[in-house]
Amino acid sequence: MNFCPKCGSIVEQAIPAGDNRLRDICTSPDCGKIHYQNPRVITGCIVESDEKILFCRRAIQPRYGLWTLPAGFLENSETISEGAARETMEEANAEVDVIDLFSVFTLAHINQVYMLFRATLKTPHFGPGIESLEVELLGESQIPWDQLAFAAITETMRLYFADRESGSFRTHIGEMRPIEGDEFHEYQVDMLT
Ligand SMILES: [Zn+2]
Repeated sequence: MNFCPKCGSIVEQAIPAGDNRLRDICTSPDCGKIHYQNPRVITGCIVESDEKILFCRRAIQPRYGLWTLPAGFLENSETISEGAARETMEEANAEVDVIDLFSVFTLAHINQVYMLFRATLKTPHFGPGIESLEVELLGESQIPWDQLAFAAITETMRLYFADRESGSFRTHIGEMRPIEGDEFHEYQVDMLT
């Protein structure tokens, strides 16, 4: 951040009194606003239908053309389950009933928290929204594992099919860190539950 969104003055990084982290602080003595930045929540759905899962192929960067679950940034004034259903409507034109929380992954290096819910289709209708090239129900054997857009989605689906195989779903909470020096962005995954 270079300029204060509140007053337009120059912003400098400093540690405020009583704090222990660098913050963006407005240099205007009349304003002086501290612009805190915090992680963002990405919420979305694992939409189940007849043993298949609804996947979207991305029509936007990053990861154009790769497959993902319908998911996106949580908006102000909505709950995580509302955000998951909204993103599913926006990206896949699918109206869903959210069942329960399936996975939570913290990616601290990019300041993101993924929260993905199991959900079912309210109606059999779905299709690409403006951010998707195509939307398909895919069985486990049809999933293009090497063309999934995001590591947290890949890990979530791996856990999902393992749970389905075992006959019971539970909530999984984990942390993902990129393996240092790995240009292919392999991740170390630590599960807390
Ligand atoms: Zn200011």
